[in-house]
Amino acid sequence: LVNRDRSLGAVLADSLRFGDRDYLITENSRLTFAEHGAMVAAFATALRERYGVGKGDRVGILAANTPEWLVAFWAAQALGAIAVGYNSWWAPREVAYAVESTEPSVIVADAKRAAILADGGVDVPVITMEEAMPALLEEFAGAELPQTEVDEEDPAVILFTSGTSGRPKGAVHSQRNVLGVIDYHRHSDAVLAAFTGAEWSRETVSERRYLLTSPLFHIASLHNLALPRLASGGAVVIYQGAFDPERALALVAKEKVTNWAVVPTMAQRILDVKDLEKFDLSAMSAFALASAPSSPALQQRLRERLPFAQFSLVDSYGMTECATAIAVATPLDLMAVPGNVGRPVLGVQMELRDPEGNRVPDGELGEVCVRSAYVMLGYWNDPQATAAAITKDRWLRTGDYGMIDGGRLFLTGRRSDLILRGGENIYPLEVEQVLDEHPAVAESLVLGIDDADLGSTVGAVVVLREDLPSDEVPTEQELTDFTAERLAYFKVPAQWRITSDPLPRNATGKTMRAKVSL
Ligand code: ATP
Ligand code: MG
Repeated sequence: LVNRDRSLGAVLADSLRFGDRDYLITENSRLTFAEHGAMVAAFATALRERYGVGKGDRVGILAANTPEWLVAFWAAQALGAIAVGYNSWWAPREVAYAVESTEPSVIVADAKRAAILADGGVDVPVITMEEAMPALLEEFAGAELPQTEVDEEDPAVILFTSGTSGRPKGAVHSQRNVLGVIDYHRHSDAVLAAFTGAEWSRETVSERRYLLTSPLFHIASLHNLALPRLASGGAVVIYQGAFDPERALALVAKEKVTNWAVVPTMAQRILDVKDLEKFDLSAMSAFALASAPSSPALQQRLRERLPFAQFSLVDSYGMTECATAIAVATPLDLMAVPGNVGRPVLGVQMELRDPEGNRVPDGELGEVCVRSAYVMLGYWNDPQATAAAITKDRWLRTGDYGMIDGGRLFLTGRRSDLILRGGENIYPLEVEQVLDEHPAVAESLVLGIDDADLGSTVGAVVVLREDLPSDEVPTEQELTDFTAERLAYFKVPAQWRITSDPLPRNATGKTMRAKVSL
């Protein structure tokens, strides 16, 4: 289990030995490792010959999830270039800003996003995935896979934060950061095998098929799903188009998917599917919630309705600034104590700190801080933001607040969401989790409302379940009583909005809090 790979380019070259195994599968296409390797060799050569891409240059990628996204990514790695995954949901102005700050030599984009680049007035060569890329692949077919010497500290990937608390920031990950994730997966595969009694071999790991329903420009998808498969010989099943739970479940059944990670909003939509039993999900062995807070109530419903989730459901807590998840709650963690996100993963040192940077004792609230080989190099071209996020001795301040109890981490929300009511600090998540327990409630959002006396008071937006009969719609008084029975008086919302419109979400399934008001 010692990582002998010197670079992502070496991992790529090594993957050719998986030959005619499937690497990238979609509903209507499949690429073997050999085919993928040949495409990457041709495309990397084209990038070098036609666009002068070399070590350290940026190769932008702006597209929905496609096999070509990953071909472009690996082609950049073959050249020692930095792959920049732009958010395909961005509007022209947002894209233009990110492109301007990262200065790519070329952008590989699908046709829809090529139009967005044009609208944003971006003046960088664009290779469209539908036309220019196939032409280049044909022209450079048969080219040898370029290999480039890189240092472990060289930047390899830039991915952007979701912009939940402001403008998205470009997190730069080194070769070492990403190779570390690949190694982490090798290790956890072996540990898992040891626990389940399965014989560990490259074969068993190669049988894994990971379904990808979240965008590749998101770190959880790219680093934890797609990239480790290239090292292990497993397949990535790429779901394309807007998320439709029935189509995703059909793909799980058809391709015998074994691993699937979803954001909580997707999990909720899977639960809304009427006859789940009709899908053959028997190959599934691991199911993860990731990227946003999920309520114990949701987790419980998943365990009840999805047989495979009963013993495999985990919650994974991470962020773009860290190359892999920071903490993972195992199925037992989730069942033992509702509401936790588990323990720090192997290789992550975690402390909770007060605003002065002092460690707080267990059981007390503080900011989650981590030190790890997985922590990014910094934000691209932004030494000030980097210095604010990473201390001199390399501790990352995550901006998330929480508490450690019994060795497990409980998140209470972000620094920026805290409601200061009189002398009391209120964490919206705590109140939201109580509201989500109400049978009529699909989701909720709790926020501070300006108040002359107290500074802020608590307000709640409550979204009703889709199929709720009209005589079961709760009144404000009922919701107030429900909350008051479960929480201290000062946390009980004083103002309500009861609606059937879902909360606005960004590409990673997180509520865009700034866009919600009462
Ligand atoms: P920005 O940093 O631009 O404001 P963001 O923090 O939402 O956006 P990401 O890096 O995509 O951008 O998200 C990381 C954050 O998502 C974490 O800091 C945490 O607040 C939240 N998060 C991730 N996973 C979980 C989880 N399993 N449970 C609760 N919250 C989570
Ligand atoms: Mg963040």
